[in-house]
Amino acid sequence: MLREAMLWERLAPTDLRVRCNLCAHRCVIPPGRKGACCVRENRDGVLYTLVYGSTIAQNIDPIEKKPLFHFQPGTRSFSIATVGCNFRCSFCQNWEISQEPRLEQQVLGRPATPLEIAEAARRAGCASVAYTYTEPTIYAEYALDTARAARKLGLRNVFVSNGYMTPELIDRMSGLIDGINVDLKAGRDEFYHKISGAALDPVLRNLKLLKAKGIWLEVTTLAIPGLNDREDELAWVARYLFDELGPDVPWHVSRFYPQYRMTDTPPTPARTLELAWRIGRDAGLRYVYVGNVPDHDSESTRCPHCNTVVVERHGYRTHVAALRGGACTQCGAAIAGVEMGPPA
Ligand code: SF4
Repeated sequence: MLREAMLWERLAPTDLRVRCNLCAHRCVIPPGRKGACCVRENRDGVLYTLVYGSTIAQNIDPIEKKPLFHFQPGTRSFSIATVGCNFRCSFCQNWEISQEPRLEQQVLGRPATPLEIAEAARRAGCASVAYTYTEPTIYAEYALDTARAARKLGLRNVFVSNGYMTPELIDRMSGLIDGINVDLKAGRDEFYHKISGAALDPVLRNLKLLKAKGIWLEVTTLAIPGLNDREDELAWVARYLFDELGPDVPWHVSRFYPQYRMTDTPPTPARTLELAWRIGRDAGLRYVYVGNVPDHDSESTRCPHCNTVVVERHGYRTHVAALRGGACTQCGAAIAGVEMGPPA
């Protein structure tokens, strides 16, 4: 559905070129052209979103699949996406839908209004709506309207994002989006330029901004052999998270599997993931998880004070074992997160 976009401006009153201010690319788009995400188009000096009200995916997922491990653990999240992305990562696991507008010059999807999504989520017994699989920034109008509808029905809202939005969009998310998992793909700008067609600095800035806005934040790093898995680079990421976001930000270090344009790269060796886990813990992070490795020792949440397993996980089976009102039932220590366990 064609809908006028949010956060755009004309370059000058007599100039039909527009600047999109939704993500850090801040594309300048001439009439008749689209931005880098290929789902926002300048028609006669007005910027439109091409994906409003059109989902390419709707699923009911465990919230742990996002991954969000400290956000209503054990609940389900109604997960939606439109096509499109502002990145072009060579290893994207959802490239068929994220890159579809860029590769095929078409915008696919089936109609669903924000209210229909919110009601479907409630009917399914979900505790939240997740804007995920592709990049929610590029369908922010649709995501935020849906978040508004979901909130009215008592549901929470979460983004799974590359963290490349503008501060203006973060302002609009504040009060509507309750949690976010941001990919911090690497600690080097060169990686972002070469592999994702983006830059590192806006992501680092946004991690701090999202936290300052009170949006619950978890961070994921996909460890890719030979690209971002050097010990010193992983140590830089862990140190950055600890120094800038504090010990309570959960860090998910995930295993890479060959995908899209990186089918020649092998899966991440287990020893690299173990090393990353150790690096995160040594940096002072209280919650470090190895991802994409079913039944890994680290997938349960332990109390940082007494080491009791407070949330037990086996794959996507989650059991809130020793947690009430955000505290460990064994020693009373606070466990950071949102709606951690039943109310006290
Ligand atoms: S959302 Fe799309 S059009 Fe807007 S700045 Fe980002 S890539 Fe460009």
